[in-house]
Amino acid sequence: MIDLAFFLKENSSFIYHLREYLEVYGYSEDLDRRLSEFLADEHESLDTWSRISNKMATTSHQIKAYSNINWKEERFWDNIKFIDKSDLRNDYDQFLNSEFDIEKLWVRPTTGSTGEPVDILYSPEFYREVQYLSIHKLIAVAGISQPECESSALCISLHDRVTLEDIVWINIVSPEKLVLRMIFDKNDTASSEKLFRLLDKYQPKVLTLKPNILEAILRHLEQSPSLKLSFFPAIISSGAFLSEELKKAAQEKLNTKIYNAYGLSEFGLIGIECSLQNGLHIYEKDVVLEILIDGKLYNEGIGELVISSAKNMAMPLLRYKTGDIVNLTSEKCSCGRQGLRLMNVYGRILTTILNNKGFAFNSLEFEVLIDLWNLKDFRITHLKHDQILFEVEPLDSISFDEKELMKGLEKYIQSKLKHNLFLEIKILKFSKNLLPCERYISKVKNQ
Ligand SMILES: [Zn+2]
Repeated sequence: MIDLAFFLKENSSFIYHLREYLEVYGYSEDLDRRLSEFLADEHESLDTWSRISNKMATTSHQIKAYSNINWKEERFWDNIKFIDKSDLRNDYDQFLNSEFDIEKLWVRPTTGSTGEPVDILYSPEFYREVQYLSIHKLIAVAGISQPECESSALCISLHDRVTLEDIVWINIVSPEKLVLRMIFDKNDTASSEKLFRLLDKYQPKVLTLKPNILEAILRHLEQSPSLKLSFFPAIISSGAFLSEELKKAAQEKLNTKIYNAYGLSEFGLIGIECSLQNGLHIYEKDVVLEILIDGKLYNEGIGELVISSAKNMAMPLLRYKTGDIVNLTSEKCSCGRQGLRLMNVYGRILTTILNNKGFAFNSLEFEVLIDLWNLKDFRITHLKHDQILFEVEPLDSISFDEKELMKGLEKYIQSKLKHNLFLEIKILKFSKNLLPCERYISKVKNQ
């Protein structure tokens, strides 16, 4: 059993939400049951539209956006309109299910990399799923084995939003273990020192992070010879595209295995890599994935991922354009599991910036720049066919050097574009609310 009081005394940056624990504690058996069902069911292929319609039929009259849909109609899904993050931003209320008491819902903001974050409201059931079950699903599908000695933590998950706090949870899905969320400052080697201390002491089964944090850990190891590495758990990477180079370098240096996962704040966990690491298995039962190519929807292929999910009944989102370009296939994996697999998540692509050779910009690749220029957040908007708006929020506006950022951007874009394309880039510095306050313009011509 974990001594939480002792943990909090030893790790004073962490906070603990007793109220949350009391609220979810009564559901531990339910979560255990759902996990067993998930594990037993994992080879089944899924007919998901009918699951969605079963759920939506009884409640959709309470959700403005879907009140007109006749769920009994054949091919009812043809009547579901596309939505994207801008719809959430502009008319948020139309997706809320009035059956739920808004005061009792949980809130998760979306990431800021595609614009101003939007708060997604989670039903209590969906919150428990995301916060307490997802990690067990990831570990099971990836086939991550127990560390040799008895550990007191299940998972440490790293976040780079320095405005958030370190939190400790007790994961009520048996066996009861700590789940830690540590805020990781990519520009401070002290973050890696703190992480390594926690890893050593609590020996978690997995560490979850985004690729840019992984990169920062490797950088810190190089910069600070005093950093000693003794125990490193399996890593689950999500939130952005993980390049093969980074994966390989990190696996070697940290002497561990790295698995990919795909999820969004809007939907929770979507895809998990199995031990063969050949694509991400889609397991989520009440989720339909479609691929949008040139305005038409397909069941598989390479294009923009469109997600429909009735898992979060407080705010179900159907036909939601993720902006992520992926490769989805129904080809069977050698591990024996059936169903769809995400073979590649290329990241968020500004689809209209394509040249005749098919090159497209992937804004998630710009995360590299975030680390180099001390940025808190950024936003990329495609304004015209030859114009990109790059808005940045510096972590610390005093030491922020926009000339250096411009130079870096120009160099980066030139290295990416092998053909003639004239781009205009505007850099805005925006305040907390992502409101532009200053403007810089630069032009980049690529030969
Ligand atoms: Zn597999």
